[in-house]
Amino acid sequence: MATMDEIVSLAKRRGFVYPTSEIYGGLANAYDYGPVGAALLRNIRNLWWREFIDKRLDMVGLDSAIILHPQTWVASGHVESLTDPLTEDLVTHKRYRLDHLIEAHDKNLDVSAMTFPQMVQYAKDNNLKSPEGNELSEPKMFNLLFETSLGAVSGEKSVAYLRGETAQGIFSDFKNIVATNRVKLPFGVGQIGKSFRNEITLGQFVFRTMEFEQAEIEYFFDPEKTGWESLLDSWKADMEKFIVGTLGVKKDNVRWRRHTDTERSHYSKDTWDLDYNFPFGWKELWGVAYRTDYDLSAHQKHSGVDLSYVDGDGKKLIPHVIEPAVGVNRLFLMVLSDAFTKEEGSDRVVLRLSPAIAPYQVNVSPLLANKEALVEGARKVFESLVEKGFRVSWDDRGNIGKRYAAADEIGTPYCVVYDFESEEGKGVTVRSRDTGEQRRVNIDELTQMVASEKINF
Ligand code: ATP
Repeated sequence: MATMDEIVSLAKRRGFVYPTSEIYGGLANAYDYGPVGAALLRNIRNLWWREFIDKRLDMVGLDSAIILHPQTWVASGHVESLTDPLTEDLVTHKRYRLDHLIEAHDKNLDVSAMTFPQMVQYAKDNNLKSPEGNELSEPKMFNLLFETSLGAVSGEKSVAYLRGETAQGIFSDFKNIVATNRVKLPFGVGQIGKSFRNEITLGQFVFRTMEFEQAEIEYFFDPEKTGWESLLDSWKADMEKFIVGTLGVKKDNVRWRRHTDTERSHYSKDTWDLDYNFPFGWKELWGVAYRTDYDLSAHQKHSGVDLSYVDGDGKKLIPHVIEPAVGVNRLFLMVLSDAFTKEEGSDRVVLRLSPAIAPYQVNVSPLLANKEALVEGARKVFESLVEKGFRVSWDDRGNIGKRYAAADEIGTPYCVVYDFESEEGKGVTVRSRDTGEQRRVNIDELTQMVASEKINF
């Protein structure tokens, strides 16, 4: 398995991820997605949308605002309880999450099952120190919501929050969605967008950042007509199918973990995490929770607006929900780690990404960049592939070997070279990323090959 250092270095070298604002010295744990990374992120996002919204008759999409009415976060409970246990190194003033320090202190301990007072007691009993070996401050619960203010005139500004999750926009739009779409229970609403949390400890690259992208679904149902256990099971199966089937991740690198009673939010009846085996250990990738009717009821109470649903038999109810919520950036880090492969006996790196998500499906090059006829012929191949809707890159730098190595490092399944024989109408050379095998094919064969999304000939 790749180390984080190898992944971070590849990400920087090939334009997947840059530290943000580097010319100003950077900003801790904030990242920009470069040209290739933006393409990979977009492919993951598009596939999620296609699988969970476009392909399903029981799902619709939404794009709600980032700054919602501040009451939203009071109703949802985030103002009160989107908190993490915080403690500070009394010498360096670095802040840490107490649960993370306890976990590092005793790897066999199930910290997720501990309450905040139990963690505080544990820290006292074990005379817990900071990773630098210094005394720690008295732990306290710290709210992660990002505050901002609305209004142009200082003194008249009011507090608002950048959304801490995308889900609340779905709940606050529930009434409009039901009124303006032909949706019938059970149905779901999905959306993808940025969320913000003032995380205490970050690190581990894009795994945990203050600004991140979420893809969340609220699946509404009548608990008297649809059993929540079977619904939860079917969502778990769909989530795993997306990771292993659609994104092509190794099955051995994912596992399910059920939340303990203490760890689970008070309103949730059951919560599961799909964990991925990241280079820094098994960590939550995607959570799915049965949240009962907690959210809609809370918004109904705080807004004073009736948020009930009336079914075909005239039955009025507040629907219950199952929520599968994932961070797109975590999916991104997962596919990078999963695909990273070092060729045996060399330093060569090949990113064995599924062709469905590879930033580019095919790279096109002229054999020689200074022969006009070859450049022109290669351009035509490039244009015809782009025209057919494929994701195509162009590379006429250096020698062919270097171009292949660059394409391998960003996971491009096929490299096409337009050469002198191509000029004679003998097709182009195509090389497969994973086997290095080369073939001569005409444009139609090439099109079929790329469209098939197979990696090898
Ligand atoms: P964690 O325990 O890792 O902080 P969480 O349980 O607070 O995550 P949820 O509130 O359930 O996370 O959010 C749903 C999903 O959003 C997570 O499974 C994760 O993929 C993603 N996510 C949450 N916080 C972050 C973050 N700070 N950076 C990147 N992704 C995040």
